Amino acid sequence: MRGKRVIALCGGIGGAKLARGLSELLGPNLTVVVNTGDDFEHLGLTISPDVDTVLYTLADLSDPERGWGRANETWNFMSSLAEVGGETWFQLGDRDLALHIERTRRLRDGQSLTRIVTDIARRFGISARILPMSDDAVRTIVMTDEGPLPFQRYFVGLRCAPAVRAIRFEGANSARVSPEVSASFEQGDVEAIVVCPSNPYLSVDPILAVPGMRQLLRRAGAPIVAVSPIIGGAAIKGPTTKIMAELKIDAANASIVCHYDGIIDGMIVDRIDAADAAALPVATLATATLMRTPEDRVNLARDVLDFARRLTASSEPVPRQRGLG
Ligand code: GDP
Repeated sequence: MRGKRVIALCGGIGGAKLARGLSELLGPNLTVVVNTGDDFEHLGLTISPDVDTVLYTLADLSDPERGWGRANETWNFMSSLAEVGGETWFQLGDRDLALHIERTRRLRDGQSLTRIVTDIARRFGISARILPMSDDAVRTIVMTDEGPLPFQRYFVGLRCAPAVRAIRFEGANSARVSPEVSASFEQGDVEAIVVCPSNPYLSVDPILAVPGMRQLLRRAGAPIVAVSPIIGGAAIKGPTTKIMAELKIDAANASIVCHYDGIIDGMIVDRIDAADAAALPVATLATATLMRTPEDRVNLARDVLDFARRLTASSEPVPRQRGLG
């Protein structure tokens, strides 16, 4: 075995479930690199939805039904805001609000997002490392039939109704990978890199769009495996397959593999898609990928790690079925 650390690339709800399973097996040997393309300014606050979903999920503070926000939440702020005619399209629970206010204060004091997230993770008792993909602003813009929309307007405000034509990551070209993310890939002790079952277009692509990120992945010298976010041609939650249809992409595991061409060495699909697995142009594993319970998350995490270890053992250097992107 080359190293002992695992790096996971992660968006929000779907990705965080696997990150939680991995964190239970790996503790401090897990680093989660999280999408910040969904971040935005709202009501004078800087909000980082995916980072917060990962923080709450790994700290066991998240609402199990919604998947976002905190458990045992109350909504007095929102109802009072409505009374005074404030903007209520984006829900901020009373408990959740504390994190946004404190993050905004520390950013204004000049702290980096990475430093803030690292401190909050420690306060929440999380042993895994959680790293925003960059400390520079990258903002996902969804180009739709109704014009360009900032991500949260599209996702929450309009409930993903407009048809997607393209997706842009504003600021990505000049964003830098944070020193902490660079170091986590370059320590020479990475055993595996996991692309969580997050939305490839909205959650993983912004991470890959940060200049230098793809090179870091490649140079880590560890197998890179992805878990498909679609099962039986459907997404579990969210607009993944709707977007695929609008972009004229077949909602199939083959399309996800194709999307990650040159990046991944292996793909994990659900058991019900086992027939697809044989036809995919990368090493594959078919297993139970639907994470409904805490046990599901840990079982999938274990399968992912075993699969990555088998890829390492089966060949050195790690085989890549197609050219590097
Ligand atoms: P968001 O940023 O909150 O939308 O969350 P992500 O991008 O991380 O996750 C959205 C994706 O997660 C969707 O494509 C879902 O199909 C996928 N997803 C959610 N739950 C599961 C699950 O239990 N298993 C798998 N394989 N995919 C899931």
